[in-house]
Amino acid sequence: MNILFKNIRAIVPNGDSDEVKEVNICVSGEDIVAVGDVPAGFKADREVDGTRKLAIPGLINCHTHSYMSFMRNAADDLSFMDWLFGKVDPIEQKMTDEDAYWGACLAIIEMVKSGTTCFNDMHMNKMQTTKAVKESGIRAVIGRGIVGSMEGDKPDEGGLRRINDILEEREAFKDCDRMTFCLAPHAPYTVDAPFMRYISDVAKKEGMNIHVHLSESVSEIEGVKEKHGCSPIKLAADNGLFDVPCIAAHCVQVDEADIDIMKEHGVSVVSNPASNMKLGNGFAPIPAMLKKGVNVCLGTDGAASNNRLNLFHEMSLMALIHKGTERDPQVVSAAQVFRMATINGAKALGLSDKIGSLEAGKKADIAILDLNSPSLIPDNNLIAALSYSVSGSEVTDVMVNGEFILEDRKMKFLDEEKVYSKVREITKRIVV
Ligand SMILES: [Zn+2]
Repeated sequence: MNILFKNIRAIVPNGDSDEVKEVNICVSGEDIVAVGDVPAGFKADREVDGTRKLAIPGLINCHTHSYMSFMRNAADDLSFMDWLFGKVDPIEQKMTDEDAYWGACLAIIEMVKSGTTCFNDMHMNKMQTTKAVKESGIRAVIGRGIVGSMEGDKPDEGGLRRINDILEEREAFKDCDRMTFCLAPHAPYTVDAPFMRYISDVAKKEGMNIHVHLSESVSEIEGVKEKHGCSPIKLAADNGLFDVPCIAAHCVQVDEADIDIMKEHGVSVVSNPASNMKLGNGFAPIPAMLKKGVNVCLGTDGAASNNRLNLFHEMSLMALIHKGTERDPQVVSAAQVFRMATINGAKALGLSDKIGSLEAGKKADIAILDLNSPSLIPDNNLIAALSYSVSGSEVTDVMVNGEFILEDRKMKFLDEEKVYSKVREITKRIVV
């Protein structure tokens, strides 16, 4: 199927930056084959009139736990450890595999409707997020949250099972090219140091990346310092987690030495500003990371700690909070934030040859916004608008892999009403 977005305004790369241009976007099968003029011989099966529309590369949510969406508004205004071990953990104990599936479906609907086309998930239930991803048409990187410790030269039973879970999922979904799989050790306070080394060895052997929570809270820093005499970043580096491409979520409580370690190992940092503020964990030193050339991308975290999975909200926070904390309006620009939500995310996930920008040769992952929206008028600086004024409700259509998965604000492959009623039931049963 060939689709032509005709005379549409689009955010397209221009060297190390982006610009707004009126273009034609030609999609053939799964791929973008031209951005600009329509190539001779390109015959469109379907034409989309680009008048008063804006095309952007689909946003990339680099850190979330999609199953958690039924815990939205369930654990608020609590300290980090009370939130995790007092509230979230007990709900997760009661959660079934099927509950996790419906949670993931709701998360996908919320993400797609606000322009996200790819997310990096850390889950707890084998074959559930993957099933929702397969059915919905979205793209994802899937990791099973791994906790555990070593017993002699072998991981404990739970740790080993969690590693095997993700390897089995990778095998089961090997024909779905919208999914890739990574190893996701949960955090330094739930995975002991020798087990980190073991996971790193598995990652090397299996050719997988690593996704981990690091340096999220002061209590984590204090705990690791007391036990190991170093920072969580140093602990992760010393135990092999950075020997393969690694995406580290949060990195709020880090110092200059930590940032140097991350830069040296090419670690990507995924910042989750709403979650970090909501749990009272603080502000990641993003300006210092940018200065040192660390790849920074954006995530929402799960709905229990945000409580929304809308990347435009994170873009707005990212563009604003560091100006306030540093008392300098130039430390993070709207243009930088747009890249964090797109191409930087693609780089972090090892997918920058496929997604993250509207360019010929990449997969057609595209979000369309209605320029006839108050937040997009006037339209003199659309890159600024995406960070400062857009809410996500301007998104009308979303394409992944050359296929519309949201059309005229309706999900094409998921039954929205069914998902909403299932999640209401789950919340009544195990949350309230
Ligand atoms: Zn998380």
